Amino acid sequence: MRKTCLKCSHLNLEATGSIGEQCPKCGAIYAKVDRYVAEHGVLAVQRRPTGAAKAQPVQQEVASEETPAQGKKRTRPVVKALAVFFALVLFIVFYGEATKGPAPAQSPADTQAAGALLHCQTAIRRASRNAQRAVVPSVPQSFPLDADQYGFEWKSGSGLQLQNGFGAMLDTYATCVVSKRDLEIDWLEIGSETVVRRAK
Ligand SMILES: [Zn+2]
Repeated sequence: MRKTCLKCSHLNLEATGSIGEQCPKCGAIYAKVDRYVAEHGVLAVQRRPTGAAKAQPVQQEVASEETPAQGKKRTRPVVKALAVFFALVLFIVFYGEATKGPAPAQSPADTQAAGALLHCQTAIRRASRNAQRAVVPSVPQSFPLDADQYGFEWKSGSGLQLQNGFGAMLDTYATCVVSKRDLEIDWLEIGSETVVRRAK
């Protein structure tokens, strides 16, 4: 039978399992060492000081039996993983809320409409003097258009705020029309300025 010495880690492939059997390498009596480890958790005293390097494998061996303290340590990564998971879920929920489209109609094309809106929001930010500071609410009013276009309108006072030439944030208004055909912007107007006007 196989027997690993808990004192010196020597693996004895030919152990007999008899009472009083000794480790062929260090001479320790298996039963004694096993009892000591069971009672004390680790092998605290090494008979030979040179066994410092050997002491480590012994402790690893004992660790596999898992004392309560070590069990706690082991659960920490699990707790961390759970925390990260919940943070991710929260992020996805809030991010989804923040970028939710205006949903002009509850149709299967809602995701496409949301994409069109996102496209408009990005274009407005890019056209502004400071894209980082631009506040482009994700729920503008949508207005009816031709069947092949999405129309979004941020009215004055709806929360659309862009930086002006002096660094101040100003409330403004914008209109954005996106083609359903290629999801490109047909027409974008910010304030009184036409930013995009695609030729038909
Ligand atoms: Zn031994």
